[in-house]
Amino acid sequence: MRISVIGCGYLGAVHAACMAKLGHDVIGIDVDARKIDSLSAAKAPFFEPGLEDLLEDVQSTGRLSFTTDMSAAAGSQVHFICVGTPQKKGENGADLTYVDAAVSGLLEHLAPGDIVVGKSTVPVGTASRLSELIRAQESTAHLVWNPEFLREGHAVSDTLSPDRFVYGVVDGSEDHPAVSVLDEVYAAPLSAGTPRLITDHPTAELVKTAANSFLATKISFINAMAELCEAAGADVTRLADAIGMDDRIGRKFLNAGIGFGGGCLPKDIRAFMARAGELGADQALTFLREVDSINMRRRTRVVELTRELCGGTLLGRRITVLGAAFKPESDDVRDSPALSIAAQLQLQGAVVTVTDPKALANAAKRFPELHYETETNISVEKADALLLLTEWPEYRNLDPYELGGRVSARRILDGRNVLNAEKWRAAGWTYRGLGRP
Ligand code: NAD
Repeated sequence: MRISVIGCGYLGAVHAACMAKLGHDVIGIDVDARKIDSLSAAKAPFFEPGLEDLLEDVQSTGRLSFTTDMSAAAGSQVHFICVGTPQKKGENGADLTYVDAAVSGLLEHLAPGDIVVGKSTVPVGTASRLSELIRAQESTAHLVWNPEFLREGHAVSDTLSPDRFVYGVVDGSEDHPAVSVLDEVYAAPLSAGTPRLITDHPTAELVKTAANSFLATKISFINAMAELCEAAGADVTRLADAIGMDDRIGRKFLNAGIGFGGGCLPKDIRAFMARAGELGADQALTFLREVDSINMRRRTRVVELTRELCGGTLLGRRITVLGAAFKPESDDVRDSPALSIAAQLQLQGAVVTVTDPKALANAAKRFPELHYETETNISVEKADALLLLTEWPEYRNLDPYELGGRVSARRILDGRNVLNAEKWRAAGWTYRGLGRP
C-alpha cells in the first residue's frame, strides 16, 4: 500500500520506518529540511534505540523516502498525520496550528476515497472539526483517529507490535470503509494478535488523553505518598512494592522520584483540563490540577534537598547532574525534570555540570547557561554533590568506591530511587533518596 506520513518527529519518523518495515511504500513529509536530509541519508535526527538500523534496513529496499514537498502525498491511499501538538504559549490548551496546517496542505492532494489518519494527540472534538474541513473541500476522503501509544525508548517495538489499536471512525461502526483499509495497513501486527477497538471520533481522541492522565495520576499519587513518607519517616519504595502486589493496583508507574516530564504527559494533562473547561466539564478534571502541582513540587523538593545535602547553602557548590533526558534511552529534553532542576540549582548559585549519554546537544540548545560534560568521570571531578536525575543504566551501575575518589564530597541524591542505599552508604557516601528515610 502507498502511505504518506506527515510530520517526521519522534512519532512520525518511527511510524514511517515501521510502515515500510511492514511492507508498505512510504513517503515521509516534514517542513523541517534538516530532519528530512538526515532521514534521507538513513540517519535518525534524534536518538531512538533501533531506529537507525531500521532506517538503513528499509531504505535499502527502496520502500521509504522523505521529502519536504507535500505534493508527494498525492498517490498515497493512506495519509498519517503525525505533527506536533505542543502546549500553547502562556496557556494550558494545545496548539493545533501544525495539525491544521498539515491537513489543509494535504487537502488538494487527496484522491476520492483516501484515508486521512490522525495519530497526533489532540483535544476531543478536533477530528470532527477536521472532518468538516475535508467535507468542505468536497473531498470524499475519510478521517480516522488512530491515537499513538508508543513510548520513547521503545518506539520501534511499540509501533511494530503495539498493545492495541484504536480506530476512531465517524459512525463508530466496524463496517466503515476506512476500517478494512487500516486493517490492511496493520495486517502483520493484527495477525499476530494485537487487539483492535473501533470507536467513534471523540472516544478515540479521549482514549489517548485519558490514558496519559491515568499514568500521570499514578506517578503523582506515589509522589504524594513520598511526601507523606518523608514526613512520617517511612520508605516509599517498600510501600510501592507492597501496594503494587495487589494486581488491581500493579507495581508499574509507581516509582517515586522527581516526577514526569517529556513532550507528552505534562502538556497532555493541561490540554485535557483546558478542553474540559471549554466543554463545561472542568470539574471532572480538577484533580489533574493537583496531579500537575504534585509533579512540579518534586522539582522544588529536589532543589531543597540538595541545599540540605550541601550543608545548607548552594552558593558556589559544585553539583553534577547525572542525566538530562526526560527518561533513559531517549535524547528528548522537552520539559525534562532533570534539566529544570539543574537550571534552578544554577540560578540559586550552584555551579552545575550536566552529563548524559545522548541528550547533551538538545539540553545545550534549551539551557545554554549550564555546563555540559560528556564523560561521566570528568563530570564528577571535585563535585560537592551528585544528583542522579535520569536513570540511565550506566548511572544505576556506577561504582561508589571508584567514584568516591573523584568527588570532593561523597554526597549523592538519588532522584529516581534506583541505587542501593546500603551499598553507597557502606562506601562512605551520604545517600538521600526521595520519600525514603
Ligand atoms: P515532534 O516535535 O518530535 O515532531 C513533530 C514534527 O512535525 C516535527 O518534525 C515538525 O517539523 C513537523 N511538522 C510541523 N508542522 C508540519 C507540517 N505542517 N507539515 C509537515 N510536518 C510538520 O513531536 P512528536 O513527539 O513526534 O509528537 C507528535 C505528536 O504525537 C504529538 O501530538 C504528540 O503528543 C503525539 N505523540 C507523541 C509520542 C512521543 O512519545 N513522542 C507518543 C504518542 C503520541
